[in-house]
Amino acid sequence: MNEVIVLEAEKLLKRIEKLGRFESKYTVFPYKEAANIVGGLNSLVESLPDVRNVNSRGELVDSELKRRLVAEASRIEQRLSGRHYDFDTVIDIHGIPRKDIEELRPWLELNRDDAFESIERLFKTNDVESYELQLPLDVPSIRRRAQENAEDDIQRYHTTLGKMLKQLTEVGDFLRDIHAVPTEQDRSYFSPLTNTLALGIPNIYYLNEDGSLGIRERELIRLYGHEGMGHGLNHMLSKSDGLPYFLRKSSAVNESTLESVAQFYERVIFGDVKDSPETQRKLDIGHKFDGIYQDAQDGNRLSDYEARLGQYAISLLGNKDLDYDTRVRLLSEVTLDPNFPLGFVEYHKDSFDTQGNPKYSLVSELRYCAQPVKRALEEFEKRGVSYEGEGRSLIDKAFLKGFWTPDGFIDNARLTAEGK
Ligand SMILES: [Zn+2]
Repeated sequence: MNEVIVLEAEKLLKRIEKLGRFESKYTVFPYKEAANIVGGLNSLVESLPDVRNVNSRGELVDSELKRRLVAEASRIEQRLSGRHYDFDTVIDIHGIPRKDIEELRPWLELNRDDAFESIERLFKTNDVESYELQLPLDVPSIRRRAQENAEDDIQRYHTTLGKMLKQLTEVGDFLRDIHAVPTEQDRSYFSPLTNTLALGIPNIYYLNEDGSLGIRERELIRLYGHEGMGHGLNHMLSKSDGLPYFLRKSSAVNESTLESVAQFYERVIFGDVKDSPETQRKLDIGHKFDGIYQDAQDGNRLSDYEARLGQYAISLLGNKDLDYDTRVRLLSEVTLDPNFPLGFVEYHKDSFDTQGNPKYSLVSELRYCAQPVKRALEEFEKRGVSYEGEGRSLIDKAFLKGFWTPDGFIDNARLTAEGK
């Protein structure tokens, strides 16, 4: 690792951040400054060695910094070039490993029967007697009631789950600096600028037919796992100390890793609550947790399937060699809903530019299909480190500290498992 280059990179990354802040305030892009930055990035990239097999922390930093700078340069260059955003460009901007896209189809073929069984099991075990109505937040009395409940519930979950995690893993301590609040937005989020974990009222609550408010505990736990344990802790640990600047700041090229990490913690948290009757009691769900847990298993299996099916569908739109009929046929072979293939392709009939490239926002959704966590866990397993006790703290720190590209994330896991 060359300290001078790392510091030089820090200066360039700070200049890139300035571009963003400037553009957000003045809604123009400083083109000349951006071009100068690209020049600086490219010459720094040339001075970094090509590391094939990473074997030390120094080599890890060098190789990861190089990947990061290459990605930053090509993202800005693309922006300045005025070229079309084709499928491959968007995949590179978000650092999505191509093998994870290629594995979507075989995964779907392998898991389709299980997904159908999950639907049957959910249907048989849940006698759904009334509708869970969407909250009409436009009605002041309902809105006030939902806000009050959400303030209390979210605070109680934050305190209780935080205490539980503190006992299970060293990274749990970092939850204390996160504020948990309700939001009326549909999408929950973690804001790293204010350390705020905002959980969406419309996802967590519903209205019963008799007008009373219902709560989806499973969704609240899942969101806490994804946004709090995943994104929240990822940000808190990364800015804590000891990392070079470029690993403390997240960028588009890290997004696929970030989402893989957050999805991992969505699952972990259910296992943790399952093993802790005390936590269940404090959350007031002890009497029904078995049902919540089983629902979560089937629900996760289904949402995994639907998510990957959607990603596979996007990848088909990105393949210019396929015509309309072929896309529909390929989707029909792995769909759950017989209406999905035609519906999806029809819905997106206008989601292309004149060159046949699907829209940027659509292709960027593929960042959710990256599997660096799965591969990193295999690295730990190979070296006898399992996800419990001290091993868990070690893995949690490796997963949550720093913003890595998928390749760097896996290298970091391997070195950590090797005690390097
Ligand atoms: Zn996320």
